[in-house]
Amino acid sequence: MKSKFLSVESINTLLDAESTRHQDTINLIASENYADAQTRAPLASIAGTKYAEGYPGKRYYAGCAIVDEIERAAQQALLDLFVPEGQQDLYHANVQPHAGSSANLAVYNGLLKPGDTILSMSLAHGGHLTHGHAINLSGKTYTIVFYGVNGETGLLEYEEIERLAKLHRPKLIIAGATAYSRTIDFARFGLIAKSVDAFLLADIAHIAGLIAGGCHPSPIGYADIITSTTHKTLRGPRGAFILCKKDLGSKVDLSIMPGTQGGPFMHAIAARAVAFLKAQEPVFAVYARTVCAAAKKLANELQSRGYHIVSGGTDNHLFLVDLSKSTGLESLSGKEAEMLLEKAGIVLNRNAIPGDTRPPLTTSGIRIGLPAMVTRGIQPEDMPQLAMFIDTVMRHRETEHLREDIRTFARRFTVPA
Ligand SMILES: *Cc1c(COP(=O)(O)O)cnc(C)c1O
Repeated sequence: MKSKFLSVESINTLLDAESTRHQDTINLIASENYADAQTRAPLASIAGTKYAEGYPGKRYYAGCAIVDEIERAAQQALLDLFVPEGQQDLYHANVQPHAGSSANLAVYNGLLKPGDTILSMSLAHGGHLTHGHAINLSGKTYTIVFYGVNGETGLLEYEEIERLAKLHRPKLIIAGATAYSRTIDFARFGLIAKSVDAFLLADIAHIAGLIAGGCHPSPIGYADIITSTTHKTLRGPRGAFILCKKDLGSKVDLSIMPGTQGGPFMHAIAARAVAFLKAQEPVFAVYARTVCAAAKKLANELQSRGYHIVSGGTDNHLFLVDLSKSTGLESLSGKEAEMLLEKAGIVLNRNAIPGDTRPPLTTSGIRIGLPAMVTRGIQPEDMPQLAMFIDTVMRHRETEHLREDIRTFARRFTVPA
C-alpha cells in the first residue's frame, strides 16, 4: 500500500502522534525503555555526519581526533560500568555494534568457522532469534544445539545443559534470553564452558541495566565475551556493545569492521557514552531495584487473580503469563490478549510459552515487563491497580469503558520529554 504521509509535515505529525500514543498508554513491553533528553541529545548532533571507519587512533578518514575522544570515553565508561577497577586491563570494549543482532553476528563471525557448533537457548523457550534460529543467519551458518527450560518448572536445568555440552562439544555456549524471568547462573555456565573448552558468550541484552544496578549477578569473570543492547533495561539509545577478554579484542574488532559493519554511528556512540555514565549514578541502582520490585509485585497480584506465571514468579524485570493454565482464561490466545489489552491502552507482546502448542504468531502467552513504566515513575504500590486493569480487560473483554480510566492512569506517568 502506498503511504499517505509523503511530506515533511506529515512525518512530523506521525511523530507527534507516536509521542501522544506513548503518553496515553501503559507500556509493558519488556524490551522497551525511555532514554532521557540528555541521553537522546547526541543522536541529533553533528557527530552523525562523521565517517570514522576504524577505531580510535586507527581511522581510515581524516578529521577524527574529536570523535576518537568520544569513542574512547564510551569505551572507558563501559568498562567502569561493568568491570571492577583492578580487572579493567583484562577486558576490551567495542561500542560500535549498531544493534544487539549485529553484536552477536560479529562475535560468531569473529570466533567461529561456518559449521562450528553453538549451544544456546531455543527461541521457543525464551532464547533470541540470533542465538541460532533456523531462519536467522546464525542458524544457517552454524551447527546449533538448543537447550531449554524444564516444562514443569519453567527453570533452566544446568545438569541438562552440561550433558548437552559434553555430548556435542560446542565451540561456543550462549547464556542469555529474551523471555526468562529468573536469575541466570553465569558462574555455572562458566564451569560448563570450561569443562568442554568452549567460549562462553553472555548475551545480557535484557538484563544489562539490572546488572549495572546491582540486581542481577554479573557475568564478568565467567564469560569470555559479553554482548548487550544499550536500549533495554540499560535505558540508553538504540545500539549495542561487546565486552570481551583482552586476547579476543582484535578478533572482535576486526569482525565488527571490516567483518560485518562499515562506518560506526558516532552520534549513537556519544549517546551510549552518556547512558554508560548515567547508569553509574546511584539513582540508577534505585531504578533497577524498583523495576524488579514492581515486576515481582505485579506477578504476585496477577497470580492471586488466577494467572499462571511461568516459573512461578520473577527475579528480574519481566515475566511470562501462561494463559492456557490461567483460571478462566484457558481459551484466550496470546494474540487475542495482546489485541484486547492494546484496545484498552495497555501495550505488551504475545509470547510463546515453553512447550507452546500454538504457532509463534498466535501463542498461548503474554510477556510483561516493567522497565519503561518505572522510568515513567510507576511504583510497586501502583501494581494492584494495574493488575485490576489487566484482569478486567482480559476477563470481561472490557475495553471501551476502561479506556478512559487507563488513559488517565497512564498520563500520571510522564514520558521523558
Ligand atoms: C533484544 C535482544 C537482542 C537483539 O537486539 P536488537 O538490537 O533488536 O538487534 C539480542 N539478544 C537478546 C537476548 C535480546 O533480548
